[in-house]
Amino acid sequence: MTARLRHYVCGSTAHDVGAMFRGASRGVREFPSGVFLYDARDGRRVLFDTGYATGIWNTGWRGAVYRRLLPPTVSDADDVAVRLASDGVDPASVTHVVLSHLHPDHVGGVRRFPDAEFVLSAGQERTLAAPRLREGVLTGLLPEWFATAEKTVLDDPQLREVLVGGVTLHAHDLLGDGSYLVVDLPGHADGHLGALVEHSVLLAGDAAWGSDLIDASSRLRALPRAIQHDADRYSATATMLGHLAAAGIRVVCSHDPLGGKDLLG
Ligand SMILES: [Zn+2]
Repeated sequence: MTARLRHYVCGSTAHDVGAMFRGASRGVREFPSGVFLYDARDGRRVLFDTGYATGIWNTGWRGAVYRRLLPPTVSDADDVAVRLASDGVDPASVTHVVLSHLHPDHVGGVRRFPDAEFVLSAGQERTLAAPRLREGVLTGLLPEWFATAEKTVLDDPQLREVLVGGVTLHAHDLLGDGSYLVVDLPGHADGHLGALVEHSVLLAGDAAWGSDLIDASSRLRALPRAIQHDADRYSATATMLGHLAAAGIRVVCSHDPLGGKDLLG
């Protein structure tokens, strides 16, 4: 079986780029919410993030505040299970779900994968244990069974140093063959994760707003900077992404508008 990495869009939001970055020209840009499905050669399937939740969010006043600040555009067709099924992928065949972080546009489809093994970080577990509005986490989007779902929780001891393009990454070899490295990309949210697939594509989650906005990350205006978990580490991670891109790694951010859906080869 040939390895594949496919991209699907599960909802979107829109922002004025000029209001986000100093020196950027004004103009509303659409930010799709990407999810990424890796087919390993041995049949295992790893999903990176799950997009927005379709339907009604039972998330109370926190959800109302979130939706006012970052209004989502989500149709029934944006449901991750619908996206996969319409591409011939049975959602039940997904063996692993990696969560970059717990913001609503990344966890809305968790409920579609009751049998998968979830991969998250100790920082994400901390956030779940004591969610605060500032962290932007709406626990109502997570199904009740998530508390007892099969999970691999990555903490520093499980991460080993891997040198990629002159950059040291802290990585967990998810499938044991080096094909899918879950990597620490700190700053945006506590325990924010990315994934280096086939040593060629880095799924960067929200480590930057877009692969064309990595350099602009150091020019975030006060408000978008204030909602980063750790703004200094966010900037340092963006610098690292720039080095990886310069070394030939394809850096793909969750909200990149990607034309083709196959990302390998
Ligand atoms: Zn986020």
